[in-house]
Amino acid sequence: MSSEHSVVLVTGGSRGIGRGIALHLAREGWNVALNFSQNIEKAEEVKKKVIEAGRQCLTLQGDVGSSQARRSILEGIHRGFGRLDLFISNAGIAPRVRNDLLETTEESFDEVLSTNLRGPFFLAQSAARWMLKQKQDQPELIPRMIFITSISSYVASVNRGEYCISKAGLSMTAQLFAARLAADGIPVFEVRPGIIQTDMTAKVASRYDSLIAGGLVPQRRWGTPEDVAHAVAAIARGDLDYSTGQVIEVGGGFGLRSL
Ligand code: NDP
Repeated sequence: MSSEHSVVLVTGGSRGIGRGIALHLAREGWNVALNFSQNIEKAEEVKKKVIEAGRQCLTLQGDVGSSQARRSILEGIHRGFGRLDLFISNAGIAPRVRNDLLETTEESFDEVLSTNLRGPFFLAQSAARWMLKQKQDQPELIPRMIFITSISSYVASVNRGEYCISKAGLSMTAQLFAARLAADGIPVFEVRPGIIQTDMTAKVASRYDSLIAGGLVPQRRWGTPEDVAHAVAAIARGDLDYSTGQVIEVGGGFGLRSL
């Protein structure tokens, strides 16, 4: 089977930022390969909305931390759509428990690193190989890659060090793929969200409410999945194609220093 429309893979597309990206891109004409981990019901809801937007959607359950699951995700897209134009590594987890750095456990470190860094690296590697092969057959194609990292790639939070380490590593992953694929005509970007209203931040929402009101975020509001999706859509459309390896922070000015 092959798709006449461009195909995007969004990992972790059943909820939050990934959901926002998948729905936004569907409205812009993309067929969507939607990966998720557990939440079949939520994934099916997103699929329904993609179809309502007039596009096709494949739901692909699988833990990005598992090499077998990564293989079956890409095989599923191969069978279902026959092409991959945009790879978006979005799936990610916070540590189950926010532990002081001196109490970080090996189990939590391994779980977070496997989901947020090791899995995304090797999935990106396989996707890049496929994209290069596609370009050999159709040199006019411009496949693209996006890594959703976090402001935690440069902000040290000592109660979730393993998360920060995973995001710092993912930031370098984006740089590495950008450098490796630039000459092949495959732009690679890092999109770096700030504090975004999703299930991930729901548990600490009231703390963030007061920090944001106090000026932690210069634009004085939470970000939304749509905010992130807008940045992704600009890359997806090719508006930034004479750039690669760039970081787009979607954080309401979080990274701004002022005096
Ligand atoms: P959510 O917890 O709301 O959603 C996470 C998504 O990832 C779900 O679709 C979930 O699937 C999926 N997922 C989780 N683990 C895996 C796995 N092992 N394999 C495949 N899919 C998985 O998170 P957010 O939307 O908030 O976060 C999305 C990304 O953005 C993450 O990488 C996060 O680190 C990053 N980010 C988030 C910020 C925020 O403030 N929210 C800020 C900066 C970065 P399922 O529904 O099946 O569980």
